[in-house]
Amino acid sequence: MGVYLFPFTSATKLHFFLGGFLHFITGDDIQGIGDCVLYTGPIDQFFEYSLGWLEYHGLRFEEEVRNEPDYQGQAIKNCPDEEPPCRIIEHRHFTGAVGKKTVITREYGEEWIPGRGRYHPVEDERNRALHKQYLELAKAQHPNFVFGGRMGEHRDYTMAETIAAALKKVKELTDHS
Ligand SMILES: Cc1cc2nc3c(=O)[nH]c(=O)nc-3n(C[C@H](O)[C@H](O)[C@H](O)COP(=O)(O)OP(=O)(O)OC[C@H]3O[C@@H](n4cnc5c(N)ncnc54)[C@H](O)[C@@H]3O)c2cc1C
Repeated sequence: MGVYLFPFTSATKLHFFLGGFLHFITGDDIQGIGDCVLYTGPIDQFFEYSLGWLEYHGLRFEEEVRNEPDYQGQAIKNCPDEEPPCRIIEHRHFTGAVGKKTVITREYGEEWIPGRGRYHPVEDERNRALHKQYLELAKAQHPNFVFGGRMGEHRDYTMAETIAAALKKVKELTDHS
């Protein structure tokens, strides 16, 4: 069985560790590319929103270059007491880079408008039901496609959960091959 991953993402690179039967491809031409395709993009977009939009929580980002070597001493800091609550990322702490200045990004929650960035999937009754309908459409029209990842499954996964879900999915696929 050839399993193809589409599109190519940093998270899906982890599948390299899962066996020599995986191939990575990018691009729009998805016809006839294999007998099993893992698609990690938004499932509603794949079906041109024919059943409606799946919703996401919106985010607004504000970047600032600070004239100091270290702003908060850590990569991620939540600031729940601020209005609206936010999270501050100080990028240098992810890599250990040093310098006289530092770059931070403040993330604020905001209303999501369809078509804007898809950040955190809204996991409520409406969205779960709609996602289920898209999966049924997928089963009928593209039985060789597997929809994976936070946008394919419409789940607000952490990185760890994404990896766990990917491992589970590959196990399901290989068990049934
Ligand atoms: C703002 C934000 C902050 C987060 N912070 C954390 C955190 O601190 N800790 C943590 O554990 N997790 C965090 N997460 C969650 C984590 O980033 C995700 O769970 C993880 O990246 C999901 O991996 P994925 O491969 O499913 O999706 P993604 O990483 O989103 O990969 C999907 C890929 O598909 C591509 N794509 C989409 N549609 C198409 C298309 N039609 N054609 C081609 N390519 C397409 C996208 O460009 C993207 O590269 C955060 C998520 C967000 C949005």
